[in-house]
Amino acid sequence: MPKADPSTAPPKAAAKSAPQKAMEKLGLKRDIDLALHLPLRYEDETQLTPIAQAREGDTVQCEGEVTESRIELRGRRQLLVRLRDDSGAELLLRFLHFYPSHQKTMAVGQRLRVRGELRGGFFGREMVHPSFKAVNDDTPLASALTPVYPASAGLPQAYLRKAIASALQRAPLDEVLPAFAVPKTLPSLREALNFLHHPPPRVSLATLEDHSHPAWQRLKFEELLAQQLSQKQAQRERALLRAPALRAQAGGLHEQLLGALPFALTAAQQRVCEEIAQDLARPQPMHRLLQGDVGSGKTVVAAMAAAVSMAAGWQCALMAPTEILAEQHFKKLVAWLDPLGIQVAWLTGSIKGKARQKMLDAAASGEAQLIVGTHAVIEDKVQFKRLGLAIIDEQHRFGVAQRLALRMKLQGHGDAGAARPHGGQPPALEPHMLMMSATPIPRTLAMTYFADLDVSTIDELPPGRTPIVTKVFADGKRDEVIAKIADEVERGRQVYWVCPLIEESEALDLKNATETHAELSAALPGQPVGLLHGRMPTAEKAAVMAEFAGGRMGVLVATTVIEVGVDVPNASLMVIEHAERFGLSQLHQLRGRVGRGAVASVCVLLYTGPLSDTGKSRLKAMAETNDGFEIARRDLDIRGPGEFMGSRQSGAELLRFADLQEDAPLLQAARALAPRLLDEHADAAQRQISRWLGSKAEFLKA
Ligand code: ADP
Ligand code: MG
Repeated sequence: MPKADPSTAPPKAAAKSAPQKAMEKLGLKRDIDLALHLPLRYEDETQLTPIAQAREGDTVQCEGEVTESRIELRGRRQLLVRLRDDSGAELLLRFLHFYPSHQKTMAVGQRLRVRGELRGGFFGREMVHPSFKAVNDDTPLASALTPVYPASAGLPQAYLRKAIASALQRAPLDEVLPAFAVPKTLPSLREALNFLHHPPPRVSLATLEDHSHPAWQRLKFEELLAQQLSQKQAQRERALLRAPALRAQAGGLHEQLLGALPFALTAAQQRVCEEIAQDLARPQPMHRLLQGDVGSGKTVVAAMAAAVSMAAGWQCALMAPTEILAEQHFKKLVAWLDPLGIQVAWLTGSIKGKARQKMLDAAASGEAQLIVGTHAVIEDKVQFKRLGLAIIDEQHRFGVAQRLALRMKLQGHGDAGAARPHGGQPPALEPHMLMMSATPIPRTLAMTYFADLDVSTIDELPPGRTPIVTKVFADGKRDEVIAKIADEVERGRQVYWVCPLIEESEALDLKNATETHAELSAALPGQPVGLLHGRMPTAEKAAVMAEFAGGRMGVLVATTVIEVGVDVPNASLMVIEHAERFGLSQLHQLRGRVGRGAVASVCVLLYTGPLSDTGKSRLKAMAETNDGFEIARRDLDIRGPGEFMGSRQSGAELLRFADLQEDAPLLQAARALAPRLLDEHADAAQRQISRWLGSKAEFLKA
């Protein structure tokens, strides 16, 4: 190999300028990123308004000659420039910040073009800090509207405009799609982008601003199509995978479990068990979401599915987002399955050393048939002998990245199979996947982001539950609420008091919970009051939880660690302090901790005003309905789909341009088109996906 000649080595990249760095921080790296960075609004610099005709409050562009320029020292030091246009009318320009160079540019006799909001000042018409530039008699006006882009500190509009205009020239915007695929009314992508970055004068600003213009429609269509293609493709990839066919046998383990339960399944539980059993019996991996309101009894359905898997000789893993919840599942499953001779293992991050090794060995040897735990279960070192079914509880609580890691980990077998040198061997088997959530997926999202997911719904609560009554009180009623707690405890019932998570300050969070704990202990003499928060060691948490679950503790003060899945049927009162700080689905989850037995339960939402509009609508929704599906709908209205999916945190944006609700017709068109494109124009489909989703495509599968 010839040695690299230092004289031809590429020059060291020049240090990045501040605006360049700011641009990269906004994700504007490639030409295509810049080309897709669209204006928020436009400024019209294509016309001049005579000063005499300009109206107060309007943002206008005027042109004239400087007749006076002076620095005034009265009050604040300021530069005052007087401009007279051809009609003889005058305008005063006022600058509170200025440089000597400004004075030069705006010297007497100079011709200026200025743009700003016109005000009627004490001295007549004026503009404060207008934009300005020196011009000649024949300096042309802008031929297109001037875009105003989303920017950040340290990134001047002028810099961004230039960068975008030149990136737009270079960006690869050639037509990827075959002609039949694009609705006739829409321009090409290149035309659409040229138009949106530099709209001609006198275009309807309204259609640009409400995104109904065909140029906008083209962008939305492109984006929706890419998203539908990637979903459809993921679905097809999955259909090629193989899984063990787990057939339920009459009289098998699942029927024994049913016989041993202290209750009968509801009709809805029976139906979803049947749907899951049908999936498990197929040789393709199941990819199913089990949704059902809090308290609808999803755990027992999971146990039934696990029983089918284990009876067929395959291991099962059940994962929960928190240790408390995982432990509760573990206890319940041991109680149900141990008498039937099933070995249940328990694995979380806090199990260390020998105990951990023992669990790992039991999973690897196949001795442990059911492994329950937190996401520690999917960590790299855990190997299963024959994993047939993975169940993920409260799946919406796992972040997008975690869901992805889980999926990769579980499909690890599949990759190994694909890499095999000889084609003769049978493909490796994937486990079936069952996800559970109390937060139902809205229909629009089910059609788009979760198109690759089958859904079962438990739409009925077990019998004998009394609906929870929800009351909203200002914090001033605190004493009344504490009196109600004393009442409840007196009658042998139990009470939760939830303190909010104070973002960015775990210490404050703790202080608040500790103080409330002291306050309630003092108000309820002789009554054990427990305290539970995220910073406690696991063993201590478990001990407190056991006291409460065993009925030996009347009141439990907790931070949101109890949010998901905790099941203590004797608890009948839930107080949520600073309820205005919680999200709607979180409030609903918390409320679901009570109303689990036959006693009438109450949820008290204490708030501290003043309430924001969204705060108000959240509390109102809670007071008006107990229905988790209705709550989810309202949550979507309040927050929008991006936040609904928790994608904000992950950085994986959902849709930038399209709106699932508003653009339903475009979505339908994209949905109908995706299979045909994948079949007949596979190359175009791939290019469309990578142009729009790039590295995000993986995220969308999770
Ligand atoms: P979630 O769907 O919120 O996970 P769980 O599985 O925790 O609900 O069930 C809530 C409570 O209802 C548990 O105590 C569970 O044992 C009980 N339960 C579940 N199914 C039934 C049923 N069919 N009849 C009576 N109680 C049931
Ligand atoms: Mg649950």
